[in-house]
Amino acid sequence: AMHEAKNLGGNQAYLFEDKLSAVAKQRLEMLQALNHSELDDEFQLYFQAQVDSQGKTVGAETLLRWFHPSLGLVPPGQFIPVAEEGRQIIKIGLWVMHKAFLQAKAWNKKYGDIRISINISPIQFHEQSFVELVIGLVKFTLVNPNNITLELTEGVLIRNTDLALQKIQHLVSLGFHISIDDFGTGYSSLSYLQKLPIHELKIDQSFIRHIPENPDDMAIVESIVRLAQTKSLNIVAEGVENQQQAEFIRQQHQDILIQGYYYSKPCPALEFEQNFLVNHSK
Ligand code: C2E
Ligand code: CA
Ligand code: CA
Ligand code: CA
Repeated sequence: AMHEAKNLGGNQAYLFEDKLSAVAKQRLEMLQALNHSELDDEFQLYFQAQVDSQGKTVGAETLLRWFHPSLGLVPPGQFIPVAEEGRQIIKIGLWVMHKAFLQAKAWNKKYGDIRISINISPIQFHEQSFVELVIGLVKFTLVNPNNITLELTEGVLIRNTDLALQKIQHLVSLGFHISIDDFGTGYSSLSYLQKLPIHELKIDQSFIRHIPENPDDMAIVESIVRLAQTKSLNIVAEGVENQQQAEFIRQQHQDILIQGYYYSKPCPALEFEQNFLVNHSK
């Protein structure tokens, strides 16, 4: 991209370089801030509802928010990649799991079998002690793993398949559910679906965004749903923003869960509880 920028003429090239160093500077700032951040002070779990065809909230995805004293609210799309590169994600991810297990435990006691989904970074998953850490947290929090879904991306399952398979089998034997996040965006090989004991596919929001204008995306969603059905997998449709999209999804299959701004934006635990769990009975 560098030589392309140069072809645009001197000024443009300088602009381009300026922009690069601004991004690099921001990453460095974030990296330093991550090293010094107090997790309990600066990080917070948000929750976004997963809703069934009756309009009932049956689960929630945990989404991390970082409120830095001087950088302000840093979106996870920005800081997660930096934290993965600097490996702080291991500590952060453990903190997220701990908090999410405690929250799940509390809500399960009050409201029954609501399922909490947690994003697992590939760096975190590939750590040798990942499964042991998870087991430790289960013992410590007394959460029921049946109420926890671990969201992995396709990349995790392609790399080190045998070791990944062992870990997933172990987690599944403990009762955890495994979900494939951003399904359809990463890899054309679906052979891992045969090998791995997976429970759920999450249809990526990029396939939902242009429904109903884009027939290709609708065809993709239809084929993902058919694939999931032949494998008896649960489906979550992510990024559903309007009624047309929700109706299209409901037409595909009765049991698809919907997660998106149409029902709920991610929000803090207390707000989520008030809006989606209180009065929604066991
Ligand atoms: P993701 O796992 O694919 O999460 C879904 C993202 O889509 C979230 O963005 C959510 O707020 C957003 N979203 C949900 N519904 C809608 C909708 O209807 N319209 C639109 N436009 N967006 C919607 P968020 O919270 O900014 O998170 C971005 C990504 O950061 C996540 O993508 C996930 O990959 C990562 N992430 C978030 N929390 C964690 C975490 O605790 N650990 C790890 N490893 N990654 C996390
Ligand atoms: Ca996710
Ligand atoms: Ca996703
Ligand atoms: Ca995503």
